[in-house]
Order: sequence, then structure tokens, then C-alpha cells
Amino acid sequence: MIEFRDVTKQYPDGTVAVDGLDLTVEDGKITVFVGPSGCGKTTSLRMINRMIDPTGGSILLDGKDIRESDPPLLRRGIGYVIQHAGLFPHRTVLDNVATVPLLTGAGKRAARARAAELLELVGLPQEVARRYPPQLSGGQQQRVGVARALAADPPVLLMDEPFSAVDPVVRDDLQQQLLRLQSELDKTIVFVTHDIDEAIKIGDRVAVFRVGGRLAQYDTPSALLAK
Ligand code: ADP
Ligand code: ADP
Repeated sequence: MIEFRDVTKQYPDGTVAVDGLDLTVEDGKITVFVGPSGCGKTTSLRMINRMIDPTGGSILLDGKDIRESDPPLLRRGIGYVIQHAGLFPHRTVLDNVATVPLLTGAGKRAARARAAELLELVGLPQEVARRYPPQLSGGQQQRVGVARALAADPPVLLMDEPFSAVDPVVRDDLQQQLLRLQSELDKTIVFVTHDIDEAIKIGDRVAVFRVGGRLAQYDTPSALLAK
């Protein structure tokens, strides 16, 4: 469970990106942060893994203030997926994913086996594993990004507009895949998008942000649609 308690973030230039955010992200659910550009979604997301620290209030992960956690250690339990997958272009797809288990002490063979398993889980055919990221389509790269984020088996997954740079058909496929993955893996996912349709499609809970970094609504998609 991730609890935002009266969280505020003011950047050094005076911009208030997030203003008094109170919100609880439930375990095992997909919580979507949605709203127009500049309303504080990414800032809120990045405060969860301490890429950004709040200037007011606190964030609790399973009851513990994350300020008491060492950022690298905290991030071991929190996967992170961004719009452009951020893969290493000079390593094969398999090695991009295998790097993570290697870093956490797995042997080379075990790491590669794990990577192959994850690539299959995100729906990539085996031959893609031997290619290099620049040889992949945008949608395929995003799948690799998801596989890599899952490689450390983190209980929490942060996703920042992960599907926004791909065309609508591929996007739909990626969304379906994420829903299937979620039903198998039971992660706590926080997903940022500016697209309300996407939010309603994939969210168990939807947090609607408005300009000024305030929370306008926080509810299930069906409750939001009924309003
Ligand atoms: P969103 O993800 O909803 O587009 P952001 O969290 O990226 O919103 O940004 C929220 C507000 O904070 C915007 O006004 C943005 O311009 C501002 N902002 C983001 N990063 C910085 C920064 N490093 N310094 C100053 N202002 C920033
Ligand atoms: P699209 O918008 O078509 O889905 P992207 O925005 O993901 O594609 O990528 C744009 C271009 O940048 C593509 O040619 C892609 O191969 C390349 N590219 C994107 N990310 C990477 C990366 N991490 N390493 C190397 N090339 C990349």
C-alpha cells in the first residue's frame, strides 16, 4: 500500500507541481493518474521511488515513511517503465533484460533463462531476444521495457505514459497484455497517462488530477463514468 499524505512538491523555481495530495494506492491493483499535461502526474509518480522528494507531507510504503529508505534499496522493490523504453542499444534484447537478475546476484545462465521467460510473458517471440533494441518497433521496445522492469520481481511497478508513443492498434494490444499480466502477477501498478479513455480501460482506480497539482476525483472507472 502506498499512502500520499498531504504531499506537496514545489520546484526550486517556485512551481507548485503537486499540492496537498492525499491518496492511497491499494495493493494488487492498477491505479491510474490521469489529467492534462503539467498537472503533476509524473512528479507524483517519481516521488514514489524518490527520484523526486516532496517539499511537504509524506509518502508511506507499507506503513513506512519512504524517506527512511535508502533510494537504491527502495528502487529494488519498484520497477519503472517510461515512454521510450530506455534500453541499452548495444546489448541484445535478452541481455537488456538479463542484466537485472545478473546485478542481483543470479548466475549468467539463470539470468538468461529468467530473461527469456519474461520476454515470453510480455508476448515477444523468441527470435526478438537476439536482436538489438534499435531493430525493434516502438511497441516491441515497450514490451522489452516492461520485461526488464519485471525482472527484479518488484511488488510495485511505476509506468509513465508507457504506451503513448505507439500507434493506436499496438497500444490497444499492449493495454490488453498489461491487463493479462496483472491478473497473473498481482503487482501494485501506478500508471500515468493523459488519456482518460486509457485510464478507464485499464484502471482499477483512477485518480484525476487537475492543473495546479490537485486531485479532482479518485474512484473506480464505473463510478467515474456514472458521474
Ligand atoms: P504531468 O506529468 O502531469 O505532465 P509534471 O509532474 O511533469 O506534470 O509537471 C507538473 C508541473 O511542474 C508543470 O508545471 C511542470 O512544468 C513543472 N515541472 C516539472 N518538472 C519541473 C522542474 N524540474 N522544475 C520546475 N518545474 C517543473
Ligand atoms: P515509435 O514512435 O515509432 O513507436 P519510438 O518513439 O519508440 O518509435 O522510437 C523512435 C525511434 O527511436 C525508432 O527508430 C527507434 O528504433 C529508436 N529508439 C527508441 N528508443 C531507442 C533505444 N532505447 N535505443 C535505440 N533506439 C531507440
